[in-house]
Amino acid sequence: MADIAVIGGGAAGAAAFGELLARFDAGTIHWIVGQHEPGRGVAYATSDDRHLLNVRASSMGVFQEHGDDFIRHAAQQLGQVKGTDFLPRRVFGDFIQAQVGARIDAARRAGRSFRIHPESARAIVQRGEGGYAVRVGPDRWLDVSLVVLAVGALAQRPLRTVSTTALTSGAYELDPWQLDRHVKAPRRVVVIGTGLTAVDTLLSAAARWPYAELIAISRHGLWPFTHAALPLSPYPRQSELNQALLGCDGVAPMLREVRRAIDSAPDTDWRSIIDGMRPINALLWQRLSHDQRKQFLRHVRWIWEASRHRMAPASGEAIYQLQEEGRLQVLAARVLDVDGTAPLQVTLRERATQLVSVLEADLVIQATGLDTAVAYGAHELLSQLLRDGVASADALQLGIRAEPDGQLLGPSGEPRPGLYAMGSLLRGILWECTAMPEIRTAAHHLATQWVQGVVGDSSESAGEGP
Ligand SMILES: Cc1cc2nc3c(=O)[nH]c(=O)nc-3n(C[C@H](O)[C@H](O)[C@H](O)COP(=O)(O)OP(=O)(O)OC[C@H]3O[C@@H](n4cnc5c(N)ncnc54)[C@H](O)[C@@H]3O)c2cc1C
Repeated sequence: MADIAVIGGGAAGAAAFGELLARFDAGTIHWIVGQHEPGRGVAYATSDDRHLLNVRASSMGVFQEHGDDFIRHAAQQLGQVKGTDFLPRRVFGDFIQAQVGARIDAARRAGRSFRIHPESARAIVQRGEGGYAVRVGPDRWLDVSLVVLAVGALAQRPLRTVSTTALTSGAYELDPWQLDRHVKAPRRVVVIGTGLTAVDTLLSAAARWPYAELIAISRHGLWPFTHAALPLSPYPRQSELNQALLGCDGVAPMLREVRRAIDSAPDTDWRSIIDGMRPINALLWQRLSHDQRKQFLRHVRWIWEASRHRMAPASGEAIYQLQEEGRLQVLAARVLDVDGTAPLQVTLRERATQLVSVLEADLVIQATGLDTAVAYGAHELLSQLLRDGVASADALQLGIRAEPDGQLLGPSGEPRPGLYAMGSLLRGILWECTAMPEIRTAAHHLATQWVQGVVGDSSESAGEGP
């Protein structure tokens, strides 16, 4: 038995499946994709061309050796395309499907064995003799020696401050990508969150409901910064800075080093200094103690996310224009309560004044970002893995416990040979692992190492990225 199961039909699952298809011929590769169209996942399923990639076209690829495949693919659809462009995410979804399709054709010609299952994986059980049994759909079991968990982030849980009445009113939307199901035009839409998902949600809402008043609320009321229109020159002393950062003990000294670098290089754009840290971000995270990570999450995360995961210049322009036109207002406030039916009553406390006020909204959309708190989520497979002690939750609820190469760890830290995760579930150990550059590196590494019979540490990639 040398079969492999890749679980998850998003971009990470597609990357792992495609990498394995190209090199594994000792058994069957099962790709368990769930109920959605395979290859697109959450990020690339959008059909709204206002939703742009936040990585330049030249850095987007599904597989490790991607060259300018995406640029050429996009040019066929969009006409002239430059590597520095930020293109619609839909086009990248099409590209993933084309790339995996080509690998499938090649695997067929080479006589390789694979199966695609349009169902969910519902349980994984360790077999006494080694390997795993994976339950697919209601009652079908696959025996495999390698499992790659690429199930993405969890479905959003409602904020604790939202009442059951509000939740069941039909006016509170937990899935920001499902605006189409709101047929009646709202007069006022409140979006909770001001990150990248909130930006896309607001752009869609503004186009769909041209007369609606839009309000975005987050604790700091800060949009993601924008990418520069053209790639920036690197910071000449980046390697010196990175060495210094690796020598820091704690978050505050790291911040001081970064600030010093920014202040001492007035000719360098701060964004290029942040981007230049990309190859060491996972290492920096791993060097922080539990308490230092907590400190980062509490005090630094909001500004790090806004600086590191920037929006495409066109998305920024569109958001700022909505604000200038008076159609969109952004509030730095804490949401204390959401209650009522339609309209919903949103109670908030403004950050600057500490004043409490109540807003009425016909539609409230929760766009608060990735949820990877597996212990609290309702994901059938992940809950079973935790319940049965096959996997364990990260101590800060940032996914599951794993080695840096993705190998899962049980409740006492015991390694689970042949059971690996990729993408968002690894935030606890890698912090930055959700974007395509990291995902395709991880997929390549896992596939090549598995085929060679060894799996070690995943390498890191550099670049602006999302
Ligand atoms: C809105 C948005 C925009 C982004 N933009 C960019 C960008 O421009 N560039 C970039 O590099 N990155 C971007 N990212 C990061 C993005 O997370 C990755 O690029 C990538 O899409 C992650 O894919 P994934 O497969 O890990 O997760 P997901 O996209 O969440 O896919 C996971 C899939 O697994 C399925 N699944 C879950 N459980 C099971 C199960 N038990 N059995 C079978 N299937 C299951 C789910 O239904 C889903 O289809 C963006 C992310 C978001 C959310």
